[in-house]
Amino acid sequence: MPLNSLISEAGSLKKSPLKATASNTAVPKRKQLLRASIAHYPKSKPANKSADERSCESLYQRFYERFYKENIEIFTDGALVIEDGIIRDIGDYATVVQKYPDAAISDYSGKWILPGLIDSHLHYPQTQSIANYGDQLLSWLENYTFPAEMAFADEEHAKSIAKVFINQLLRNGTTTGFVFTTVHASSCQALFSAASDINMAIVAGKVCMDRNCPAQLQDTPELAQRESADLIDQWHNKGRNKYALTPRFAPTSSDAQLAALGELATQYKDVFIQTHLSENRDEIAWVNSLFPHADGYLDVYDKHHLVRERSVFGHGIHLKQDEWVRLGEANATLAFCPTSNLFLGSGLFNIEQANANNVHVALATDVGAGTTFNMFKTYGDAYKVSQLRNAPISPFEGFYLMTQGAAAAHQLDDEIGNLNPNTTADFIIVEPRYDELTALRISENAAFEDVFFALSILGDDRMIEQTWISGQCCYNKKENQHALA
Ligand SMILES: [Zn+2]
Repeated sequence: MPLNSLISEAGSLKKSPLKATASNTAVPKRKQLLRASIAHYPKSKPANKSADERSCESLYQRFYERFYKENIEIFTDGALVIEDGIIRDIGDYATVVQKYPDAAISDYSGKWILPGLIDSHLHYPQTQSIANYGDQLLSWLENYTFPAEMAFADEEHAKSIAKVFINQLLRNGTTTGFVFTTVHASSCQALFSAASDINMAIVAGKVCMDRNCPAQLQDTPELAQRESADLIDQWHNKGRNKYALTPRFAPTSSDAQLAALGELATQYKDVFIQTHLSENRDEIAWVNSLFPHADGYLDVYDKHHLVRERSVFGHGIHLKQDEWVRLGEANATLAFCPTSNLFLGSGLFNIEQANANNVHVALATDVGAGTTFNMFKTYGDAYKVSQLRNAPISPFEGFYLMTQGAAAAHQLDDEIGNLNPNTTADFIIVEPRYDELTALRISENAAFEDVFFALSILGDDRMIEQTWISGQCCYNKKENQHALA
């Protein structure tokens, strides 16, 4: 049975098991109008303020806080109109409903429609290594990550974990992930293929490592370049897929390998680059000893043309001032992964430094060192990290960093991150009062920022009622249905 026919006009999934394939993801022709409370950021925060204003961190922070409060668009009784997988209109229900007399109306009053969430850094092969005890970064890699990644030599294993991984994203409301695979090109194929089955916008790349890891996980500079180029040809900008050149981190790549990937970064300007940077002090000392001619960790990548727009660096906790400045100049992005940073004891990310230096920040889980797939909870831990630094991140900023802020940092805000007309219909329906405690804590007419904050501290995947991708309901909590059965 085609997926399309399993989606009722009300947008809920019927009970038959869903089997989506690339050929049967046609979207309903008729306009659908969804009624609910709605919140999103229609535009991104201004960048490149003058050096004078930037010189005062707290002033800059206040300026942004005002932007977040004033620029969120909220419709308490709102309507979202979608057709052919695209958002056509958004606004107050009373106004919008007049314009579309033929639309099929679904009423989700009491719930919130938000843009699909963006997780800017995570590892799908570590889905199974989440929540292992006792290590910091380098021994964590050796004891848990590398053994888990070796299993991906088996393509069937990769396919089955890719499915579990995407289902976990969907049930937590994440509609786009920036994903590390393994050294095996087939692991990357498995993920892109599963995402394509539901028209999901995934950014991913084959991990490149040619030293300091088990022999079974090593490629070479030539192989890394050839396989990455082949994967770009096959997947980049095909459907909604995007490719990211993915050296794991400086210690596992030789200069020759980073140079080979830098050549591809120069050749393919719109391809992403994702890696790790300055997560842990032992790691930084190791990088300094492995690359004595570089001027610090970031410079190892910079020398090989890997620091530019669409570069996404995981962590950046222990950066030098000149590295903050360089990241801002290069228009690069830091992925802030608070649950992972706390779990591995890596340190406390300094978001004011990022803002003061015009460095894009996006929130991310970093599963499996991250302890949850849930972006709300990830903001909850970002808030706790910022409290330890006595500079709390507001719910407005937290919401921005997993929607429009992330999309703008990645230059994808024409497609995702907001609910503007003509973007792709990736969105979630959130049920704020889903159990006894949340119903007690969150009042029926609570303001958005209160709902978002309370759920970020208390919530879990039960708050996500539905996740829609490309105009199709791909996860429905009520029926416990995922599009990838
Ligand atoms: Zn990571």
